[in-house]
Amino acid sequence: MMPPAVAPAVALANVCKRYAHAAAPALDHLSLEAREGEFLFLLGPSGSGKTTALRLIGGYEHPNSGEVRLGGALVNAVPAHKRNVGMVFQHYALFPHLSVGQNVAFGLRMRGAARREQQAAVEWALDLVRLPGLAGRTPCELSGGQQQRVALARALAFRPRLLLLDEPLANLDRHLRDEMRLELKALQRRLGVTTIFVTHDQEEALALADRVAVLDGGRLEEAGTPAQLYNHPRSAFVARFMGEATLLPAHLGALLPDGTRLAAVAGAPLAVRPPDGATQGDTVTVCLRAERFILTNPDEAPTTPTTPTTPATGVGWPGTVQLVTYLGARALVLVSLDAGPTLRVLKPCTGTAVPWEAGDRVAVRWGAAPPHCLRGTV
Ligand code: ADP
Ligand code: MG
Repeated sequence: MMPPAVAPAVALANVCKRYAHAAAPALDHLSLEAREGEFLFLLGPSGSGKTTALRLIGGYEHPNSGEVRLGGALVNAVPAHKRNVGMVFQHYALFPHLSVGQNVAFGLRMRGAARREQQAAVEWALDLVRLPGLAGRTPCELSGGQQQRVALARALAFRPRLLLLDEPLANLDRHLRDEMRLELKALQRRLGVTTIFVTHDQEEALALADRVAVLDGGRLEEAGTPAQLYNHPRSAFVARFMGEATLLPAHLGALLPDGTRLAAVAGAPLAVRPPDGATQGDTVTVCLRAERFILTNPDEAPTTPTTPTTPATGVGWPGTVQLVTYLGARALVLVSLDAGPTLRVLKPCTGTAVPWEAGDRVAVRWGAAPPHCLRGTV
């Protein structure tokens, strides 16, 4: 194999990590790369190994086996303070007895930078996170959001080659979090620093990432752009984790002129996008995104055109609304189909009232491009 022209900023190869006395490994043969300048997200449920992976990259933990490389160089034995990596920890650990300025200067002081250089870097970094002039305060005089900005300034002040962020916005209220997300994204673009951001929040990953690596049980489930993972997941875990979806088994039928195939999905014909290389008779799992259904009264005529891509027209899938969860702008409607399965359907709430309630008879149609399929059944 030809070596790549430019080594990735970060490369984990077959990394295993088992903590003492732990029943299961925290990381199980994890291989992962971040390209130079990339904004990479590690996404996964609690306990999936995200923090462990980040701490291994930062040098705060060491693998039992496998390789950690930064810019192509093996760093397994290099201590954290020699890796030139900035890290914001999950529970922001500002030094409470140091001023904001001293906190931000910490990395530079450890590296023996001259006083003037430290001062200039503190000013630069506090400007960057929009906290100019606060160097003299102590952390307890700052709000949670401001403390998190100081933690970020501290991680950036020594101009690291890599920035590691462990759920940096998890403790902020919703409004502040949304604001900080946009700021972080702009900052990352402006500085061009390779950044790995850990979160369990799929919305956060979809909104900010260049690429997302989804972890489960210490293993890499799948990596890709937000759009790839959302629209073309390869695993059921990713399909379910990235938003609301219903996964239903189906047998592939005849090929249609546009390259899709007919399939019987919950008793109704539907054109689906088959997995690469799949042929007639194969069993697949159809991934039906909740926001792409059309819900109507059973006696209402379908307003969507009848084409092979929306064959569940006519009466659609008949069913009964089982549960409606009001989510503000949208409602999650669970519809149990007469054919058996329950569909998860997201509907916008335009007025103040939720348009459906439990017990309503409905017809469900597929109102979008042919759905994506996963191989096999789940
Ligand atoms: P995440 O950040 O995705 O929530 P972690 O990397 O913190 O996951 O944890 C992965 C697994 O390793 C979990 O099962 C967790 O309980 C375990 N673990 C994490 N840190 C330690 C530790 N210091 N000692 C023992 N087990 C740990
Ligand atoms: Mg964690």
